[in-house]
Amino acid sequence: MKIIRTVRGDIAPEMLGVTYTHEHLFGYSLNPKSDPDLRLDSESAAAYELTLFRMAGGQAIVEMSPCDYNRNPLVLRRLSEATDVHIVCVTGFIKGASADLLVENKNINELADAMIRDVQDGIDGTGIRAGIIKAGSSLNTITPNEEKIFRAAACAQRETGALISTHTEAGTMALEQIELLRSEGVPPERILIGHTDRKLDWDYHIAVAKTGVTLGYDQISKEKYFPDSQRIDFIIRMTKAGYGGQIALSGDLARRSDMVGYGGGPGYTFILWRILPWLRKQGLTEADIRTLMVETPKRLLTLDV
Ligand SMILES: [Zn+2]
Repeated sequence: MKIIRTVRGDIAPEMLGVTYTHEHLFGYSLNPKSDPDLRLDSESAAAYELTLFRMAGGQAIVEMSPCDYNRNPLVLRRLSEATDVHIVCVTGFIKGASADLLVENKNINELADAMIRDVQDGIDGTGIRAGIIKAGSSLNTITPNEEKIFRAAACAQRETGALISTHTEAGTMALEQIELLRSEGVPPERILIGHTDRKLDWDYHIAVAKTGVTLGYDQISKEKYFPDSQRIDFIIRMTKAGYGGQIALSGDLARRSDMVGYGGGPGYTFILWRILPWLRKQGLTEADIRTLMVETPKRLLTLDV
């Protein structure tokens, strides 16, 4: 049976709807010295953000804060119930220092077992199950601990069929991540490479797309990296090149100052209210937009159970 695994339980894939594939609603680093702006600890602020998202036509969010980011599935379920937005939560680890403490003394099988348990049985005894698997690498390198996480994630992917959604640092190491996962038997259709719009290099994007994976253009609105006009240009060009079905859009808003719910912005309405009209004006059809916002997220998140 084909399903999508959300924090409120399994749903029919057709029920998912308009989806952002990489966001952060609630969670914070376990490192006490981390930037206080990255501390998303207000359930009411998250509910406010989701309510605006729902009003703008949004229906589902993939919450990418894993256990090294103080993931809280009970909060996510309450938020989903309160706002009627589907939330898919994640198992696995981010990268680098925050994951090191948690994975250093574990072997690949132990890590894989923990991920499989999260997807199949539920997280920390809550019965709330993860719908995707996260792994990540550092700037221009995959550290030994990160490699261990990738191999464990691959094992959990083979066992559960769930998508592996990755973190790349500034868009680097996409091809190396793909090679590592494929060497472990993960099909490219089950890989989403995150943050590729941190490295808007056309040949690089085509090389990544040719492997069959999906590219996360998930830094939308973050003009400190690239202006949105360049992201729009890449989305249009990728669509024209036949890769429109291999792009997943999101904003990866992870700061209090990013969220309307905390008094900041642009918040969760930005892609729906600003970027989609812009893409239409540049020539994308309604079918192209539906592929980006509905069909690709549905394809990526569907599990066969
Ligand atoms: Zn993120």
